[in-house]
Amino acid sequence: MSSNSCCVYFGDKLAAYGFGDEHPFGPQRHHVFRTAFYQQQLEQKVDILPPVTTDQQTLTLFHTPEYIQKVIEQSKFGVGYLDNGDTPAFIGMYQAACTVAGTVVDAIDQLMSTNYKKAFIPIAGLHHARRHIAAGFCIVNDCGIAIETLFTKYQLKRVAYVDIDAHHGDGVFYSFEDDPRLIFVDMHEDGKYLYPGTGAITETGKGPGAGTKLNIPMPPKADDEQFFKVWPLVEQFLEKHQPEFILFQCGADSIKDDPITHLEYSEKAHAHAASRLSQLADKYCDGKILTMGGGGYNHDNIAKTWTAVVDALSD
Ligand SMILES: [Zn+2]
Repeated sequence: MSSNSCCVYFGDKLAAYGFGDEHPFGPQRHHVFRTAFYQQQLEQKVDILPPVTTDQQTLTLFHTPEYIQKVIEQSKFGVGYLDNGDTPAFIGMYQAACTVAGTVVDAIDQLMSTNYKKAFIPIAGLHHARRHIAAGFCIVNDCGIAIETLFTKYQLKRVAYVDIDAHHGDGVFYSFEDDPRLIFVDMHEDGKYLYPGTGAITETGKGPGAGTKLNIPMPPKADDEQFFKVWPLVEQFLEKHQPEFILFQCGADSIKDDPITHLEYSEKAHAHAASRLSQLADKYCDGKILTMGGGGYNHDNIAKTWTAVVDALSD
């Protein structure tokens, strides 16, 4: 067994989750990360694990059987869209989605039962899919599957989900809005200016979940200065709720010059978040934090941001 406490997953099966070379969410996102990872010799600090493909039963932890059946059917021919026009069907998408979900569940199993404490998966964090429908390039919601796995298989009472992708993690938020076990924190570009339009500061959870959710909309062009000013609120919220496991969606589309968003952080924001969440995980979660790459459609940003996150997690 290696002495590294951090593991990183990549491999061509993960790259297969994408909508082709011409689409912003294409296979190159995985490859530019892998190339930068080796250029920075991160393999000396972390272990590399292969992607794992799961089955229908795991998807059912979060998704409805009817929706999964629809994905299986459309995966055979790859025609049309899975939603109203953002998420095109492609041949093999069911298997690719099962690989994203299976890799996330494998990472949880590793963190819960081996010496690994931190894990990073570049192609994961598909936070827009709902239980019964695809949305915003997300065929399955691996974040939701991860949360349900921690609740059901590992019987955890409080799981934190922290999301700094430019887009609001609506698929996670609304699926657990009334569930007090999910401590949800999301910094995103204000929904007045960006898809999916949700995540107002007044959305703090419902019913038994009231007060367990924190949405922080950021204005377009918000930079590192604004990020670092707001970030302590995230830590205070987690300190208050003391989660047993942290899930972190570190989408690189909140970095300056992303082609589809308007935030202007640098990779220093993401590295800081990873480092501080890692410390909070050491304090409350026996070190356990699973980080998912999320969005990001500027390849240079993906390369520098995700490697900075891995570097921070492995320190
Ligand atoms: Zn995004």
